[in-house]
Amino acid sequence: MRWSRLLVPTLREDPAEAEIASHRLMLRAGLIRRVAAGIYEWLPLGRRAVAKVEAIVREEMNRKGGQEVGLPIVQPAELWRETGRWAEYGEEMWRLRDRHGREYCLGPTHEEIITDLVRATVNSYRQLPLLLYQIQNKYRDEIRPRFGVMRAREFVMKDAYSFDADVEGMERSYAAMDDAYRRIFSRCGLVFRAVAADPGAIGGSGTHEFMALADYGEALIVYCDACGYAANVEKATNRLAPASDEEPRPLEKRPTPGIRTIAELAEATGIPADRQIKILFYWAIRENEEPELVAALVRGDRELNEVKLKNATGALEVRMADREDVLRVAGVPTGSAGPVGLRGVRVLADEEVMALRNTVCGANEEDYHLFNVNPGRDFVPDQVTDLRTVGEGDACPQCGTPMASARGIEVGQIFKLWTKYSEALGCTFKDADGQERPMLMGCYGIGVTRTVAAVIEQHHDERGIIWPMSVAPYHAVVVPVNIRDDAQRDVAERVYRELLDAGVEAVLDDRDERPGVKFNDADLIGFPLRVTVGPRGLAEGRVEITERATGATESVPIDEAARTVAQKVQAALDELNRRDGSLGKRQA
Ligand SMILES: [Zn+2]
Repeated sequence: MRWSRLLVPTLREDPAEAEIASHRLMLRAGLIRRVAAGIYEWLPLGRRAVAKVEAIVREEMNRKGGQEVGLPIVQPAELWRETGRWAEYGEEMWRLRDRHGREYCLGPTHEEIITDLVRATVNSYRQLPLLLYQIQNKYRDEIRPRFGVMRAREFVMKDAYSFDADVEGMERSYAAMDDAYRRIFSRCGLVFRAVAADPGAIGGSGTHEFMALADYGEALIVYCDACGYAANVEKATNRLAPASDEEPRPLEKRPTPGIRTIAELAEATGIPADRQIKILFYWAIRENEEPELVAALVRGDRELNEVKLKNATGALEVRMADREDVLRVAGVPTGSAGPVGLRGVRVLADEEVMALRNTVCGANEEDYHLFNVNPGRDFVPDQVTDLRTVGEGDACPQCGTPMASARGIEVGQIFKLWTKYSEALGCTFKDADGQERPMLMGCYGIGVTRTVAAVIEQHHDERGIIWPMSVAPYHAVVVPVNIRDDAQRDVAERVYRELLDAGVEAVLDDRDERPGVKFNDADLIGFPLRVTVGPRGLAEGRVEITERATGATESVPIDEAARTVAQKVQAALDELNRRDGSLGKRQA
C-alpha cells in the first residue's frame, strides 16, 4: 500500500474525549472514528487489525472442531420470551419493531437463536458433540459507553456454543475452549489471567473470564500466587478468620449524639470499623413482584458486594433505598439503623458479621447506638451468606495466603450453561437407548474489537502504538528520507516491491513530507518494522531496518533488505505462536 493512497487521518493532538491510552491512540493513529456515543467506524488500518484478531480466533476455533455459522443480528422477541429473558434482560437490550408491530432485538448475544437452530436440526446423540461459532456485530445499549471501542454499544464479538450429550462432554468442550482462549490471547501478544466469575444474565454455573491486565482496567481481579486461586471482585471470597472467643457482655444502649457513620463511631468509641456492623438498605427488584426492602449487614470495614446481594435475594436487580423509603417501610432513620429489633424487613448478614463479639450498631433510634451486640444472641438474621467485597491482603479461600489484586480488561468469557437453555427451548436429542434428553450446553465469547483495544493498552509508549506482529495492520513501512531524491525513491520502490513479493504486508511512505513527520507517523501507527532509505546508507548500498518495540537498528545491503524483513516477520509470528501469556496456574 502506498501511503499517499491510504485513508489514515492521523491527529497531532490528543483528542479531548479520550481518557485512556488505547482510545487516544486509536483516534490519533486514524484507526477509528466516532459516529455516535459508543458507535464507531473502523477505518482501513483499524479494520486490518480487527481482521487479524478475527483470523487468529477463526484458526483456533477451527482447530477445536468449531464450525462457523452466520446468525441474524435481528432476533424475534418470541424466542427470548421462551427463556424469559425478554423481560429479564433489561435496558441494555436494543429493541425494535417492524412495520407490523412485531418485536425484535438487535442481538446482544445468541443463546436463544443458536438453541433454536440446533433443536430444529439435531436430534440424535450421533450428531453430538457440536461446536458452532460466529464472528459478528453485537449490540448492547450501554448506559455509559466510554473508553472508545472498549465499552461500545456496537462491537464485534466471537460467540461460540457447544452442545453435548452428557456432563463429561460439556466439561471436555469447556476445557477445549479454555485451551483455545489461552492460545488466542497469547498469540495476540496479551498478558492475561483467567479468573472465576459470576455468571450474570447468561445464567448457568461455572464460568471464567479472561482478563488482559491493564492499569486502567474496569475490572478488579483478586488472586493468590500460592495456590492459583483467581476471581473477579464480584465473585471473589476469602477464608473466614476464626470467631473471636471473647465473652459476650450484656447488651447496652448508650447515647451517641450526632454520630451517623462508621468512622465517626470508631473515632468516638475507639471500636475500629472491622468490629462494627454496617447496615445497608436495598430494594430487591424481581420480575412481576413488588420490590422488597431488604437490610444487608457487612462488617464495618467492608464494602457490600451488590452482585452477591442480587444473587442472595434472587433479584434481577438491587437498588440502594433512600432515607425516606427506609423510614417509611422500616420506621428507622438510616444513620441510626441496626439489626436488633428491626421489623418488617428481611435481614441478610454476611458470614463475617456473625463472627463478631460485643460489637456495636445503630439502635433504630436517633442518637443512640447499641453496644456489646452479639449476633445470634441479640438478633438472628433471616439469611447468613457471603455479601462482602474482598481485596488485596484478604486470606485466600483455598490456602489462607494473603491475596493480591490487579486491574484487567475482560476480553473473553467462557460459561457452562448446563441445560438452562436446552430445557427452556426443548433442545433435546435421543440417546443410544432412544431416551429423549436435553443437551448440555456451553457458551464462549470473545470481544474481538475490545481485544484490539486491550492489545494497544498493553503495547504502547509515549510515541504511539507498538503492535505485536500478529495483530499489526501492516508488518513494515518503507520510508525514503527524501522522496524527491531519485536514488532514494528508486531503492524504496524496489525494496517495497520485494517485500510484497516475499509476502510481507508493507506500506511505502511515498509522501513528500519531512523525515521527522514520517518517522513520527510510523511510530504513532506502530509498524513493527521500518525500513529507512537515506543518503548515508545508500552511499554504501545499504538501508536500515528498525524495530519499533526496541528501537534496535541494523544496516543491511539493499539486496538483503526484503529477505531480512521477511525473516524478522516470520520469527516474530513464530514466537507469538509459541508463547503463553497467561499468568497464574490453571484452575479446575
Ligand atoms: Zn491460595
